[in-house]
Amino acid sequence: MATTTWEVVIGLEVHVQLQTKSKIFAGASTAYGAEPNTQACDVSIALPGVLPVMNKEAARLAVKFGLSIGALVNQRSIFARKNYFYPDLPKGYQISQFELPIVGKGELEIETDKGTKVIGITRAHLEEDAGKSVHEGFNHSTGIDLNRAGTPLLEIVSEPDMRSASEAVTYLRKLHTLVRYLDISDGNMQEGSFRCDANVSVRPKGQEEFGTRAEIKNINSFRFVEKAINYEVDRQIDLIEDGSEVVQETRLYDSEKDETRSMRSKEEAHDYRYFPDPDLPAMVLEDSFIESVRRSLPELPEKRKDRFIQEFSLSPTDADKLITEKETANYFEAVCEKTMAEPKIAANWVLGELTAALNQENLSIIDCPMESSKLASLLDRIADNTISGKIAKEAFSLLWSGTDSVDKIIEDKGLKQITDTGEIEKIVDTILQTNSAQVDQYKGGNPKVFGFFVGQVMKQTGGKANPKQVNEILRNKLD
Ligand code: ADP
Ligand code: MG
Repeated sequence: MATTTWEVVIGLEVHVQLQTKSKIFAGASTAYGAEPNTQACDVSIALPGVLPVMNKEAARLAVKFGLSIGALVNQRSIFARKNYFYPDLPKGYQISQFELPIVGKGELEIETDKGTKVIGITRAHLEEDAGKSVHEGFNHSTGIDLNRAGTPLLEIVSEPDMRSASEAVTYLRKLHTLVRYLDISDGNMQEGSFRCDANVSVRPKGQEEFGTRAEIKNINSFRFVEKAINYEVDRQIDLIEDGSEVVQETRLYDSEKDETRSMRSKEEAHDYRYFPDPDLPAMVLEDSFIESVRRSLPELPEKRKDRFIQEFSLSPTDADKLITEKETANYFEAVCEKTMAEPKIAANWVLGELTAALNQENLSIIDCPMESSKLASLLDRIADNTISGKIAKEAFSLLWSGTDSVDKIIEDKGLKQITDTGEIEKIVDTILQTNSAQVDQYKGGNPKVFGFFVGQVMKQTGGKANPKQVNEILRNKLD
């Protein structure tokens, strides 16, 4: 029997917690980490007689997202009740949007190994978050913390356009970068501000009809998204190849065991009996509101990437790495403004040494202990030939660990590069004299020995001789 080639189909539903001070339908605080239930206000748990009032800021942030991807923004949208029972949802329903979401169709482009690919966005709707079940510290029982109930979410639903786990992760990263550029969410995945449900199915390559999908809920890291999807793809292919079939269901990813497990089947849990919420009127956005949001859009990641390529002559790869986090891009631009070194050199140092040092200490660029001016002054000393790039790495670690001035480091440690031609020439002469055997080899036609001489000069000078001059002088003497 010929073996089937399988095609993977993935659609993502991403929940982005919007960065508002208060809840979506009430004035209670949304701050993370408060004592349990201190922010569980009457509206978030729907005590009898209370009424929800829409938070304008949440609408503004949703529109900002819609405009940033050139999506249709619906000037009239409707809130609906999604009915289901769960301990962390004492109201018995979640207020969401169903038939008329605030953001309609849009697109996001991603880079894949086969080039640029457009991923369709079906919709993005506003909804309230539920509370949280807490198991830790409870013996044979579960605690409920309703602080998160009523926190505004934007759920961004993609078309089933992704064809591999890695495409899904690329899309997700792109979305993550975007919401943080827009300042609509802090995107903190550990705290649940950016979480993803992955819908996964497989079909024989060439078949038009989609296979039955499983939905993996609430995956909270990029790495787990990739692993969960890959596990799920293998599971589904095995099932089908064994003559069985995939059932439509919700599954959970267990990162410790690296597997997905069935949580509930769709048949049991899928009838949410959506209906328009009678307590909330349709939300109508005025043109002037939408226009003011449009004017508030920042430079978007794609634009910034193009500008970095144009303005700083960077490669697309470097530009892409620099813009992924807005703060890294800001840091890089600040360095460029202050140094006479080439932007390409600044990019190498930000992406190389600086990123490595941050990773080493598990710091994000926001908490970078080294000001951009310090790195700029270090790069100046490379640019004006005071130190070589190699020595600069030594100086970098001293700057990183707190020393203020590059010049002081160079002075104190005697790191200054030797650029005096006469001085280098003297050293070269001694080395050629004491290594006459190698000189004969070189003259006899073995060019590899050249590197040996360079190495000797560097050794003798503790790496401080200007490499370009060393090469020139050696060539003059030998050729
Ligand atoms: P539901 O209401 O059950 O969540 P939707 O039709 O809204 O279902 O789809 C949810 C997500 O599932 C979307 O991101 C969509 O792209 C994706 N999806 C739908 N069908 C498939 C499929 N066969 N394989 C993979 N993903 C799918
Ligand atoms: Mg869904």
